[in-house]
Amino acid sequence: MSPVSGAVGRHAMIVSLLHSHARTRACGKRLLGHQGVIVGVLRNGTTALIELDDVANLPAGVRRWPVHWDDLQVEPVPPPPAPHVITYRAGISGTGDEAVQHAVLRSNETSLCGAEVHPLPICGWAFAFTPAIARTCPTCARLVETAP
Ligand SMILES: [Zn+2]
Repeated sequence: MSPVSGAVGRHAMIVSLLHSHARTRACGKRLLGHQGVIVGVLRNGTTALIELDDVANLPAGVRRWPVHWDDLQVEPVPPPPAPHVITYRAGISGTGDEAVQHAVLRSNETSLCGAEVHPLPICGWAFAFTPAIARTCPTCARLVETAP
């Protein structure tokens, strides 16, 4: 990800001024270590406009400075929250032509709809509940669909 995408609104700290414009570098010693919020992107994306937090100790009281990305330490983007996924295994009620597939939570003998079921163990693992197949309990399918 380039530093530009999604940068506006993120916090950053000025860690050097080697790459920034000469007018910014001229105040380098007084700007180093300051933190602020990126409020804009300048010069075809090469430079961030950062609004500094410490209003009392800034050169000429100027809060907004153009700083090259390579002179900033930008807070990392937090990873998106992992989707909360519950997987259900298939349980069967009835036999033969009367068999119906239900959704069952792991280590449970009762389906979501409350039916007594028996799992379909195949070599130690169980089939996942598949709402698309025929003879699926409509109540379990709906409950799985609306599960948080
Ligand atoms: Zn069911």
